[in-house]
Amino acid sequence: MDLRIGNGLDFHRLKTDPSRPLLLGGYEIASELALEGHSDADVVLHALADALLGAIGQGDIGQHFPDSDESLKNLDSRKIVNFALGLVREHGFRIANIDLTLVGEKPRVAVHRDAIRASLAGILGLDVTRIGFKATTTEKMGALGRSEGVACLATVLLVSLTPAE
Ligand code: MG
Repeated sequence: MDLRIGNGLDFHRLKTDPSRPLLLGGYEIASELALEGHSDADVVLHALADALLGAIGQGDIGQHFPDSDESLKNLDSRKIVNFALGLVREHGFRIANIDLTLVGEKPRVAVHRDAIRASLAGILGLDVTRIGFKATTTEKMGALGRSEGVACLATVLLVSLTPAE
């Protein structure tokens, strides 16, 4: 069995903007807060897409979806993940599991954990038991500790669709 591992790391600034949806893993959290960015700024999906691309050596999302492209403004990040997933399949792999860690003081996501996992399961066509989603803080240290933004770290493991000869 051929295996590939990938990691992705993303950061977005956090602001108060009731008019902008707060999306994490494709799941909308009802909040006054929102993440800033050229696309919908879903930091979880961005880290995940970078991990998928990294595992197959296909660059990063900035390369495929440049933030200088005005047509990509407020882009639905599920499209970015679907694009990366398409490349994963083209390369002859499927996801074995993913593991995600969100870092920041706000928003508090513990109560949304299972909803976020279910959202990711739907986007990826993956059983929810193959999706880990954790959250931690920086113990109030630094920019993330001052709630200026949120980071997400993603790890994916890919397995080959056909046994290696
Ligand atoms: Mg991003």
